[in-house]
Formats: sequence, structure tokens, C-alpha cells
Amino acid sequence: MGYLENVLESVQKKYSYQPEFLQAVSEVFESLSPVIERNQKLYEQEAILERITEPDRQVQFRVPWVDDSGKIRVNTGYRVQFNNSIGPYKGGLRLHPSVNLSVIKFLGFEQVFKNSLTGLPIGGGKGGSDFDPKGKSDREVMAFCQSFMTELCKYIGADTDVPAGDIGTGAREIGYMFGQYKRIKGLYEGVLTGKGLSYGGSLVRTQATGYGLLYITDELLKCNGLGLDGKTVTISGSGNVAIYAAEKAMQLGGKVVTLSDSTGWIYDAEGIDLDAVKEIKEVNRARLSEYKKYRPNSEYHEGRGVWSVKADVALPCATQNELLIDDAKALVANGVKAVCEGANMPTSIEATKYLQENGVLFVPGKAANAGGVATSALEMSQNSERLSWTFEEVDEKLKGIMTNIYHNIDNASAEYGMKGNYVAGANIAGFAKVVDAMLAHGAC
Ligand code: NDP
Repeated sequence: MGYLENVLESVQKKYSYQPEFLQAVSEVFESLSPVIERNQKLYEQEAILERITEPDRQVQFRVPWVDDSGKIRVNTGYRVQFNNSIGPYKGGLRLHPSVNLSVIKFLGFEQVFKNSLTGLPIGGGKGGSDFDPKGKSDREVMAFCQSFMTELCKYIGADTDVPAGDIGTGAREIGYMFGQYKRIKGLYEGVLTGKGLSYGGSLVRTQATGYGLLYITDELLKCNGLGLDGKTVTISGSGNVAIYAAEKAMQLGGKVVTLSDSTGWIYDAEGIDLDAVKEIKEVNRARLSEYKKYRPNSEYHEGRGVWSVKADVALPCATQNELLIDDAKALVANGVKAVCEGANMPTSIEATKYLQENGVLFVPGKAANAGGVATSALEMSQNSERLSWTFEEVDEKLKGIMTNIYHNIDNASAEYGMKGNYVAGANIAGFAKVVDAMLAHGAC
């Protein structure tokens, strides 16, 4: 067995109870094998793979808060600071009942490579809690966020670790957390990104992940002799990423026909009415089943099913492992040309392989959804300068970053004889810069 296989086996043994983390490590390691082979002696000597799979540190803490009936409720909070070789830890906070250490570690591990790919000086981390903001009053959400930040504030800071939003953490939650950080620490600093515009937020941050996904998809299609104009696009999810992916897809001439949430999905053959979706999800915080009231000719289906719809481009934008082997088969049978991941690890390893083997252009989340964290880093720059850039300035930078990412991963895949394998390209390109810094820093 070679070095890579040895390390993978020991990680699998040690963390056999963390399936999501192991899935992420296996996927990354598989595509790194040609790079490791070229540098095996040095990497083994420097224990690069052992170090890159073990977080710098992880904290887990109790989050007690009082609900509207006066009862104390308790959730678990997490922050995994994975790797700060190229900059302060950066990565979102997920609030969802499915959150556990395995999920946060998988997200933190992926974040290291994603942040490296942006070309900006940010390390990788991730955090969150098994708290579910759904169905809670604003006061309950505030009570949770204040308690969560009371503990988290001991570990973060503008130059050490800068969290952001993720599933369940939007502008409201970031606002409550920022208020509590400022109050406890007495510091007005850019410790969180995704802030409101009145207190240090950046224009385009709200749209960034979705818009960025479409900028890279557009570049991918153009470089492969296709275009987005007139194409049918299926999207899953109806949160921050999905909504702004749909908006930019439409602006670029695509027709978006599906969206989903955790209870069901909608199909609108005439093209989704995004104003209606924004009102349902962003204003009323309601379910997508409401969409039929706005568009009586549309269809609403309970459960999963978005990937059964015929489309040229499919964009999974909800959550991990939401596009499985049967979905990949349905997409291929329906002639899909490209699948680009807005969510983190939405496509299983088996489904990814099937898509690639059947000639589908596939861009993994760590490249395709990097626009969010890239714009967060632009927010950090503006906070440091105490300046605010215009929408056009930020959007232009975002577009440049996403176009560069596409060419970097394309070049990396070609350099290692796997042209067009963007999974390998993304892992290789992201890994190279982090390892270079780790080697420079010595045993730490
Ligand atoms: P939101 O909370 O805004 O939206 C998540 C969407 O996915 C909702 O429509 C939600 O449905 C649905 N969803 C969540 N969990 C499940 C599930 N288990 N099964 C089916 N549907 C589910 O999150 P975001 O849009 O911010 O994030 C979506 C994905 O993109 C995540 O993987 C996240 O890590 C990733 N991402 C986000 C970035 C960002 O900037 N926001 C940056 C990079 C990646 P419901 O409304 O019913 O909860």
C-alpha cells in the first residue's frame, strides 16, 4: 500500500463514526493520487496528508436558551478550525437539526480547498449547531444566537477566524450574532461576513454564491462550445444559493423550471416566477407548496424528484447527498449537458462518477460555489479599509474570480492528464497552494 492509501485507511479507522467527513476525504484523496505520486517522499516525510486531515482544533459547546414558554432549551454548538496555512479561518455557520461533528468536519475540510481556489488569503473552518430556526419566533432565534455567540466569541476574531452564513443562518441570525460579539468583546470589527449593509456588509454578498455559480457555469459552457441562452435549467433548494442562482440563470437567458425545499418541489414549465418564490421563502418564511397560489398552472410534488425533469443544466443547491445514482441516471437519460454544484457535496461519489463517465460536464461545489466565500473575503477587505465598494465593483471582481477558478481547475486537470475532470482539477489546484504554505511553515 502506498502513502495515500495508508493515511486514508488510518483516517477511516480513527473516524469510522464520521461518514460525511470520510466521504469528503475519500473523494479528495482519490483525485490527489497523481500529485502525491509525484511528491510521495517529501509529503510522507512532512506528514502532509496526516496533517491536512486533522483539524487545527475543534470546539464543541452547550448552547442554553430560553424559549417563548420560559423553558430552558439546550443545543450543541461547534466550530472546527481546520487549516489556517494561507489565512485566517473562514467558513459558514450551519443551523440545522442534522448538524453534528461529522457534518461540520466534512464542510471544514472542503472549505480549506475551496478557499484556496478563490486565490484569496483565507484558511478553512466551519461551525454551527443542531438548532432549527424553522418554526421559532424572532425572539427565540435571538436568544439562541446570543447564547451561541457568548461561547463562540472566545475563539473567533477579524484576524483569527471569521464565520459567515450557511443553511439556516441568514441576515437575521448574522445580525443577532454580530450584536452579541460587539457587546461582549467591545470591538467593532469584521468578525462575521454576510452582515447587513448598514453595519459593514458588502453589496453582492447575498447574491454571491448563486451568481458565482452561474458565472462559472457560463464560462464552462462557453469553453465547451455551448451557452446558457435558451437552455432549460433545473435547480434544487429554494434558499439563498438557489434563489440567486435562478435569478442569474434567467438573466443569462436560461429558463429555470424547478426549485425545491425539504418537503417538496415545484415544476413550472413556463419558467419559475422568482418574485413569487422570494415572497414565499424570504418574506413569509413559508413552504414552496404555496407557489401554486401564485401560478395555478405549475405543479407541486411532495418529496424528492427535481432530477427527473428534462434539462440541459442541473444545479443542486440544497444540501449534501441530494443527487444520488438514480438521479444521475435520470439526468443522463434526459440528455443533461452540465451539472454544477451550488450546495456542498450534493452529489454522491457514485453519482459523480456516473455523470463524468457519461460525458456530462461536472463542476464540484468547492469550485462552483466558491463565489460566496470569495465575496466574504471581499467584505473582509472592505472592513479592513473601512470602505464600501459599489455593487458593480464587487460583481465584477466576483465574475473575475469565478472565471479564474474555472481556468485554474481546467488547467490543473490537463496538467495531470485528466483534462475535463474538474473534480480532480479542483482538488489538485486547491491542495497545491495550501501544501506549499504548510511546507514553508514547518512542523505545525
Ligand atoms: P438556505 O438555508 O438558505 O437554503 C437551503 C435550502 O435547501 C432550503 O430550500 C432548504 O429547504 C433546503 N434543504 C435544506 N436541508 C435539506 C434537506 N435535508 N433535504 C432537502 N432540502 C433541504 O441555505 P443556503 O442556500 O445558504 O445553502 C445551500 C447549500 O449551499 C448548502 O449546502 C450550503 O452549505 C451551500 N453553500 C452556501 C453558501 C452561501 O453563501 N449561503 C456558500 C457556499 C455553499 P427548507 O426551506 O425546507 O429548509
